Amino acid sequence: MPADRPALVQLHSDIDFRVADIRAVHPDWLCAKGCATCCRRLADVPQLTAAEWALLQEGLAALSPQHLQDITAAMATLGASPARPVTCPLLDPTTDACLVYVHRPVACRSYGFYAQRDKGLYCHDIEAHVAEGRLDDVVWGNHDAIDQRLAKLGESRALTTWFAEWRQTKDNVAPC
Ligand code: SF4
Ligand code: SF4
Repeated sequence: MPADRPALVQLHSDIDFRVADIRAVHPDWLCAKGCATCCRRLADVPQLTAAEWALLQEGLAALSPQHLQDITAAMATLGASPARPVTCPLLDPTTDACLVYVHRPVACRSYGFYAQRDKGLYCHDIEAHVAEGRLDDVVWGNHDAIDQRLAKLGESRALTTWFAEWRQTKDNVAPC
């Protein structure tokens, strides 16, 4: 098990606790299966720490060859294009479901439930609900604290960079 895994698991657990707390007060919270708007409008290629990537690799390794082939193509397209925002290459475009949901990065777990001091809320759909006064009693998570904890989980690199290296290693050890 990677050295940083326990710290990552604890971070997941703390986020789950905050999410459950918010959902308990708002059972009809906007984030739900079928809403993938945030996955389709990422501001940039996601950055992952080494610990997050180690976990994500396990999810990737469990995918079917067809899914991996599709992801590889989507990663290549993403890496070659300067266009922003971007669609996450790990989103299944036919079902709008995350292909690595159990192994997804921290940002995917906190998005929608956390706010950053300088930037406020991330999701514009949720922001609109706040503006309408429909989410007044929410105690948002503090994303600055999440960032501080992430900074201790190894180097941070772009998803496309981690993925390209992983594919190369896999291809190099694949039998002829
Ligand atoms: S953060 Fe916003 S866009 Fe993403 S799942 Fe939640 S409601 Fe949908
Ligand atoms: S990893 Fe999954 S949850 Fe995160 S942005 Fe990509 S598709 Fe969405």
